[in-house]
Order: sequence, then C-alpha cells, then structure tokens
Amino acid sequence: MAGPGLKLSVTRFAPSPTGRLHLGHGFSALTAWDAAGNQNGRFLLRIEDIDGGRSKPEFEAGIIEDLTWLGEGLTGWGWEEPVRRQSDHMEDYAAALLRLKEMGVLYPCFCTRGDIRAEIERAGAAPHRGEEGPIYPGLCRGIEKAAAQDRIDASQPHALRLDVERAHEITGPLTWRDVEKGEVKAAAQLHGDVVLARKDVKTSYHLAVTVDDHLQGVNLVTRGDDLFAATHVHRLLQALLGFDTPTYFHHHLLTDEAGKRLAKRDRSITLKSLREAGKTPAEVRAMTGFKRG
Ligand code: GLU
Repeated sequence: MAGPGLKLSVTRFAPSPTGRLHLGHGFSALTAWDAAGNQNGRFLLRIEDIDGGRSKPEFEAGIIEDLTWLGEGLTGWGWEEPVRRQSDHMEDYAAALLRLKEMGVLYPCFCTRGDIRAEIERAGAAPHRGEEGPIYPGLCRGIEKAAAQDRIDASQPHALRLDVERAHEITGPLTWRDVEKGEVKAAAQLHGDVVLARKDVKTSYHLAVTVDDHLQGVNLVTRGDDLFAATHVHRLLQALLGFDTPTYFHHHLLTDEAGKRLAKRDRSITLKSLREAGKTPAEVRAMTGFKRG
C-alpha cells in the first residue's frame, strides 16, 4: 500500500485500432500495467481511434480479446472501465483548441502535401523530417487574419497548426521528467508547427493524447521510445493549457531477430496468431521478456 503523501501511479495503454496487436503491443500493455501495479496504482486502456479511415470496430474488439487473453493467470490483470474511446470525445478536443486559439497560438493552414514539398524545394532547404514527415516550412503562418477568415468562410479545407515559436515565448523554457533519461528540456521546435486539428478530423494525435492524459488523471505516461520525441510537443501543450505534467517512461521496443522493430504488418507475431499457434498466455508474456507472473 502507498503511504501518506505517496502518489499512486495512473498509467495507460493507448493502442490505435488499426490492426491486430502484436508482441510489442503486448509488452507495452504489460509494462504499463506493471508500472501502475507496482505501487497499487490504476491502469487504464484507451482506444485511439481518431483516424476514422484506418480505425475499425473489429480491431477494437480484437484489442480487448487479445489483452484479456494475454493476462490470463496474471494476478490483478485488467484495466478500469469504462474504456475511453477518443472518437466519443471530440468536444474535449474542441474546447482545448478554443483555448489555444484565444491565446493566439493557432493558425489555419490551407496547404496540401504538394504545396509543402514544393516550398521546401523552392527554398532549397533539406527536408528535415519531423515525426509526421517533413518539417512544415511555415507557408501559412504569415497569412493575415482577415484573409484567412475569407478562405475559411469560402469553405477551403484547412488544418490548424500550433505556432511553436510563439507558444514557447509564452511558456518560457520547459522540462519534463523521464524515468530513464532524467530531466529533459522540451524542444517542440524539433517538430516545427505541428498540426493540432487535421483537415478531415478536428483533432490530432498530439492534441488528443495530451488532453486525454490530463482528463484521465494519468501521471505516469508509459509508452514505447518511438514516441519519446513527441513528448516535446505534449509538454508544450500541457504548459499552454495549464495541465499538470506526468512523469514519462519510454520503454524499449521489441525487435525481430534481424533487429528490426516489430510492426503491425508482421502478421506472424500478432497475439492472435500466437494464440492460434497454440502458445499459452504465459509463454507469450515470456516471449516479450516480461518478467512477472
Ligand atoms: N496510439 C498510439 C499508438 O498506437 C500510442 C499513443 C501514446 O501512447 O501516446 O502508437
């Protein structure tokens, strides 16, 4: 039991229902559960389905089925209900966008991918890659408010981007605590002006994750270290929106024999295929390297 003053960990596993879970997801879920369980904390499951085109209800059902199976025989295994499904909470993301808009850190972006590529080539700049492709060269940042509004009124499709420089001016320098790396300086500039609301869906990964972790009271974000760099953006959004900053634990990623990161397209290592091949949950847990139970 936690003593007085000792904060219980609230962790989460937040898969996107765009395919069956593989061994790496299993490891991530077990790690997040263990990080909460060690201190008698709370473990949450969140379905990140804002990508309407790729998310499928059958994959969401598969996530529940696979995770239930994976934890069989593990004392205390399970997550809190109700499970939060992002597509049910668009109003929470709209409220956050409104606050950011009022702070003057958002601007509409009408660019297509082609526009962005052409501008990078025109400027002769190397297309630095952020996690979502080349870093946005800022084409729409300088559009006058009235002119932008005319284009919005004329129903021109647009995304909303975060003016990262302006945002950092407001917040000043920021840091976050990473369980393995210690104190990390937030440098959202690495990603350029990220999209917070897409043209097709009025939120984005960065915004939805930051808002949800806050609303769900997550204080220990446990996820793979492929998302380490995304935390720069999340820390900045937390500061702008007045949210507490969780501690971060970016765990190592599982790789195949060739050292390549496991991906959803590798069918052979999905939890479902391992189950169908006759593996037991305990055997699969051992395959991930998870030590408990
Ligand atoms: N939904 C993301 C994914 O499946 C994970 C988000 C997170 O843990 O922050 O990769």
